[in-house]
Formats: sequence, C-alpha cells, structure tokens
Amino acid sequence: MQVTLANPRGFCAGVNMAIECLDEAIRIFGSGIYVYHEIVHNRHVVERFTAQGVTFVDRVEDVPPNSILLFSAHGVSPEIRHLAERLQLQTIDATCPLVTKVHMEALKFARDGYHIVLIGHEGHDEVVGTMGEAPESITLVETPEDVDLLPFAPEEPIAFLTQTTLSVSEAQAVIDRLIQRFPDIASPPKEDICYATTNRQEAVRQLSETADVVIVLGSQNSSNSLRLAELGEGRTGRAYLVDSVDELPDGWNEGVERVVVTAGASAPEDVVTDCLDHLKSAHGATVDEITVSEEHVHFPLPRELRVLQSDAGSASHVDGREADRRQTDNTA
Ligand code: SF4
Repeated sequence: MQVTLANPRGFCAGVNMAIECLDEAIRIFGSGIYVYHEIVHNRHVVERFTAQGVTFVDRVEDVPPNSILLFSAHGVSPEIRHLAERLQLQTIDATCPLVTKVHMEALKFARDGYHIVLIGHEGHDEVVGTMGEAPESITLVETPEDVDLLPFAPEEPIAFLTQTTLSVSEAQAVIDRLIQRFPDIASPPKEDICYATTNRQEAVRQLSETADVVIVLGSQNSSNSLRLAELGEGRTGRAYLVDSVDELPDGWNEGVERVVVTAGASAPEDVVTDCLDHLKSAHGATVDEITVSEEHVHFPLPRELRVLQSDAGSASHVDGREADRRQTDNTA
C-alpha cells in the first residue's frame, strides 16, 4: 500500500487560535469555563476539554451568572453577545478572524442598502452567526437551484457572501448562477472561502489523481472535513471521513493500493499519526508526504485574553471585534 500524506492538512490558524484561547483561559481561570457550542468541530478536541472540566453549552441561558463564557471559532450573532452581557457573563471571543471578516462584510453591505445572498449550509453555527448580523437583509442559498427561486429583480442592489468552509467548486457554481441572474451583484472585496479550506481541497484534488481511496480524519459535523470527503469521493469513487483510524469499516482496503490521507482543519495531528502507524503496521504501507502549498498564517489571541493574561481577573468584558485586534489576511 502506498500512502500519500497531504500537506497542508489539519489545524488551521483559526482552530489553533481558538484552542490556544481555551487552554489559556483554563490556565488563568481554572477549568470551570463554559464554551458556547463546540470550540471547534472535532470530537477529540471537545472530549479533551470536557475531561479537563470545560462545559460546552448550546444555550447561553444555561451558563451561571458571572461565569467565563468563550465564543467558539465559528462565531456568534449579536443577539448571543447581548444575551451574554445581560446575564453578566465575562466573555472571551475565540471567533476566527476570517469568520469575523464575513460578519463585517454582511454588516457593511446591509448598511449600504444591499440585500445579501449568503451561500452556505443551513443550521451551521457559522451561518447562524453571520445571518444574525442583519437578519432582515440576508437570504441563505445552498445550490444554484435556490438562486432561481430568489424573489429579487435584477436591478435591485444585491450582494453575495459565502460561508468560509464551502466546496470551492460548488460555491463557484452558485456564484455563476447568481451572476447570470444578477449581473451587477456585488461581491466581497476578498474571497470568503478561507485559505485553509481552499488549500486542503486543492491538495486532495491534486494528490488523488491516481489514488484508489481518500481517508479524511475529521468529525462528521466538520464542514470543511465533509467537503474534503466529498471531493475525495468525487475524485476516486471512495472516501472515508472518520474521527480515528479504528472507525474505518471492515474491508475498506479491498483492492486498494494507493491511499491519500488528509485531515480537516479541526482534526489534531495525533489522529493522523495514529492512522499512519496503523496503515504501516497492518497493511505494510509506505508513506510519502507531499506539500502542495505552504501556509504561514497565525492569528494572535484576542485582546481581551491578552489583557487577562497580563492582569488575571481584573479585566471585564471587552467586545471581541475591535478592528485592530487581529490579522485578517485571508491568504496563505
Ligand atoms: S477553517 Fe478557515 S475560517 Fe474556519 S477556523 Fe480555520 S481559518 Fe478560520
């Protein structure tokens, strides 16, 4: 068995920052911390923090007053921020800056009188947060067919935005249909699908050319991992999205000689290492890592956490979205 290990894979800058945020918050406050939604969409990461005493909640109302509440990498709507404020929670915003960028674009387009067509997956945490910025001015679409049903006239001021973790090719098909229907549609100043999503997909696209199967390490609720598995399946006819190697079904390797291994942006590297060790020991695999693109993106911790680092306990809630807070360069 020949294994091609995709690079880049695994943790992106936003996931690294969110995990570092929670680690640091635990160091400062102890483990009785609450997180709104999963810090990142990965079972191993969530289990590790749960074992340390962190509580993940889906309702801000479930957090006791005066507690520390961390907002996950996927971002939240203003309604959730205000609710946390009313409940006197001390908040730390671990939203990925590239998600915040989409929120800011939504706000700007809405203020400028545009109706926004958001391309994304209904119910995803990020989409819920973005739509909450301007609920009256945003319509969600998932497919080109959804675009055909939009009730707007071509001359109306329309703009589009996208979720950060979509399939690049599927999003482009929706954008193409939007441009057909609304030739003057405004677009985000810079691509919304983030560098990490784009790079991981491009690596699988290039490396799976001659592969028999693609293994994606990641969780089923991880949007970018799902997109990698769909891409792998489209390229090779067979792909597995698994949290760890022991979830591969019996017989997965029948007739398989060439395997591509990758990991979603929220999957830790140790699950990749475990997978490779298994493929070597159980299937005599040889492993070649191939780098398709280099990534050098890093996001600093949010300002409110840096303040707390220097003066633990003395800082109160600071809105996490100051324009100067973080780097928002969406390039690799
Ligand atoms: S996948 Fe992209 S948008 Fe999501 S956390 Fe990572 S860098 Fe940010």
